[in-house]
Amino acid sequence: MVDPTRAAAQTGVDTHCPYCALQCGMTLHPAAPATVRVRPRDFPTSAGGLCHKGWTSAELLGSPARLTTPLVRADGELRPASWEAALDHVAGRLREIVAEHGPDGVAVFGGGGLTNEKAYLLGKFARVALGTSQIDYNGRFCMSSAATAGIRAFGLDRGLPFPATDLAAADAVLLVGANPAETMPPFLAHLRRATGAGGLIVVDPRHTRTAEQAALHLSPAPGTDLALALGMLHAAVADGHLAHDYLSARTSGFDAVWRIAASWWPERAELVTGVAAADQRAAVAILAGAANAYILTGRGTDQHASGVAAVGAWINLALALGLPGQAGSGWGCLTGQGNGQGGREHGQKADQLPGYRRLDDPADRAHVAAVWGVPAGSLPGPGRSAYELLDALGTPGGPRGLLVFGSNVAVSAPHAGHVARRLAALDLLVVADVVLSETASLADVVLPVTQWAEEDGTLTNLDGRVLLRRKALPPPAEVRTDLEVLHGLAVRLGQPAARFPADPELVFDELRAASAGGPADYSGISYPRLRAGAALHWPVPAVTHPGTPRVFLDRFAHPDGRARFVPVQHSGPAERPDGQFPLHATTGRVLQHYQSGAQTRRVDELRDAASEAFVEVHPETARLAGLVEGSLAAVTSRRGTVTARVRCVPSMRPDLVFLPFHFAGAQRANLVTNPVLDLVSRMPELKVCAVRLAPAGILS
Ligand code: SF4
Repeated sequence: MVDPTRAAAQTGVDTHCPYCALQCGMTLHPAAPATVRVRPRDFPTSAGGLCHKGWTSAELLGSPARLTTPLVRADGELRPASWEAALDHVAGRLREIVAEHGPDGVAVFGGGGLTNEKAYLLGKFARVALGTSQIDYNGRFCMSSAATAGIRAFGLDRGLPFPATDLAAADAVLLVGANPAETMPPFLAHLRRATGAGGLIVVDPRHTRTAEQAALHLSPAPGTDLALALGMLHAAVADGHLAHDYLSARTSGFDAVWRIAASWWPERAELVTGVAAADQRAAVAILAGAANAYILTGRGTDQHASGVAAVGAWINLALALGLPGQAGSGWGCLTGQGNGQGGREHGQKADQLPGYRRLDDPADRAHVAAVWGVPAGSLPGPGRSAYELLDALGTPGGPRGLLVFGSNVAVSAPHAGHVARRLAALDLLVVADVVLSETASLADVVLPVTQWAEEDGTLTNLDGRVLLRRKALPPPAEVRTDLEVLHGLAVRLGQPAARFPADPELVFDELRAASAGGPADYSGISYPRLRAGAALHWPVPAVTHPGTPRVFLDRFAHPDGRARFVPVQHSGPAERPDGQFPLHATTGRVLQHYQSGAQTRRVDELRDAASEAFVEVHPETARLAGLVEGSLAAVTSRRGTVTARVRCVPSMRPDLVFLPFHFAGAQRANLVTNPVLDLVSRMPELKVCAVRLAPAGILS
C-alpha cells in the first residue's frame, strides 16, 4: 500500500496559504511536519507569488509552540487532560450554565479564518445544540461596514464582484484605506498596468509602501475620507464627468445624494480633509479618463463608527463615474482574513443564517430549520454583535460561558484591556486553537486543533471564488479538527451524532442545501468539482452552473435590478484631539504578521524580522514629546496605554501616529482603540482615536 504522506512529499499537494484572503496558491511537500517544503504555484489571485508569511507558513506545523494535548485549569494552572475528560468537563459546565442562566448564558465567538464548513457548523452548534442567540465573530471587526454598504447599494455583498485578475487591464485604480504592498504583496501584480500608466491613486493618511508606488497620494486627516469622497463627487459633477447614460439605465437615487454633495465643493473638502482641491479634481479626472477604472476600499475606510457611510460615499463616487457592473471597471472591497468572505456568509454572524440568509426572515428560518431537522420556532433570534457580546461577558444578564474558535480577542478586539477583564469575569472560557494564544492562556479549557495543512476544507477568497484547501499531512496524535470538537460537544449535549458530522465534505454538502436559493448560493459547488479544479465564484445555483465571476454585469441584486445611490453625511471621528490627547492614532498591519500575530509571532523568521511593536511618528512630533528614534514611547488614550519603540518617519502627518496591531501584552495597539460602534454594521472605530505621546519605561 502506498504511504499517502510519502506520496504527497514526492508529488506535492496543491493547496492555499493559511493566511489572508488572497489565498495564494502553493504546493506542499511534506517530508515530515518540521520539514514541509512550500512552493508557490500558479493561481489567478496570486499570479505565482507568495509573500514572506506564505513562504514561512509551514514552520508552525512542526513548531514546539503548538498545542498537542487538551488543557484543563485546576488549582489556577492549565494542566494536560484527555479529550474525554476535557469535552466531558466543557459539556457539563455548559449544561450547568444553561440550566442556571438560560441558553443565552453561553456564547460562541468565531473567526474569519475558519473554513466555510467550520463557520457553518459553529452557527448550527450555537443555535441548535446550545440554543443561544449569542454568537458573532471577529470578521465584525474587519469589513462589516463594507458588507452593509455593498448590500445597500447593490443588494448583495461580494467583496470583489469580479475576478481580481480583471484589475490587470485597468488603466486607473483608486485604492482607499488599503496597503496591499504590506498586507498582500502578490496582489500588486494586478495593479502593474495602472501603476505604469500613472493611474494608481492611493487615499491613506500615511505614506505607505503602496502610496510610494502611486502617481497620486491623497492624505486626508484621519477619519475624514467620507468628506474627501463628497468633494470628489462634487468635482465629478462640476467638471463634467457624470456618467449620465449609466445613471439613467442602471441606478436610482442620485438626486438625493447630489443634494448633499452639491455643498461639498472640493475647496470645502480641502478645509476638512487637508487634501488639495486640485488633487481631488486630478484624481477624478484620472478615473474618468481611463478606459477601465476601479475604486477599491479597505479597512482604512471600514473601521470607523461611520464606516457604512464612508464606504457608501466611495460607492456613490464609483456609481457617478459609471463604474460598477461594467466590463473592465467597478467597485470592490478588499477582504482581509483568509475566509473573510465565506466566514460572513454561512451563519456565524449574530444576525445571519447560512447562504447569507437572515435570522429575522421567516422564510429563511423555515428553509434552514428544515435542512437542520428542527422546528423553525426553536431557532433563537439575532444576538449581540462582536464587541457588544464581549462587553457583556460576565455581566448581569450577559453570557457566563464563552467558546472561542479561531480568534484571539484578548489582542484583536478594541479596548483590549477591558475585553481581557470581561473574559476574566466568565465562569467558563473555552478556547480551541493551535497555539496558546493570549486568549487561550486565560481559558479554563484549551482544545488543541488542527492546522490548515492537516485537514480538508473550503474557503472563499477575496473575489468570491470557493477554494479547496487540502490535507497534506496527518496532524499530531492528540490534535482534533474543530469539526470533531463540535461533534464531540454536540453529542454530549444530547444531539444526534449525524446532525453534527465531522467529515468536512459531509458538512459542505449540508451547507450547499442550507444555502440553496439564498443570496450566497453554494448549492452547485461540490468537492468533486473543486478537486477537478473548477473555478467557481458564487452564486452557483446548480451543479451544471459555471459560477458567476462577474456578478453585476447584467443587473444589480435589488428587485428592480438597479444600483442605489445612498445619501451620506460627513461626521468625522468620534474622538477629536484636545489638550489632553492632542494627536490621532491609527492602526494597521506590517508585512511579516497576520492579524493578532498568534501564529506569525511564533515563526522564527517573521518574529526576527518584526519582533516588537513600534510607533511611527513625525520627527517634530517626537521631539515635542521628548522622544527620539529608537526610544520607548507610551501612547495613551482614554482607555489605556501602549508601549512601543519610536520610529521617526518624515512622511507622517504631524497630527498622527501609527501602531501595528499584531503584538501582545503592553504592546497591544488595541489597548488604546475606541470601541464606539457604527450604528448599522456595529463596526468599532478601530482606525482612529485621540492619544498623547510620552517617554515610557521598559517594554514588558
Ligand atoms: Fe498570499 Fe496573503 Fe498568504 Fe501572503 S499572506 S502568501 S499574500 S495569501
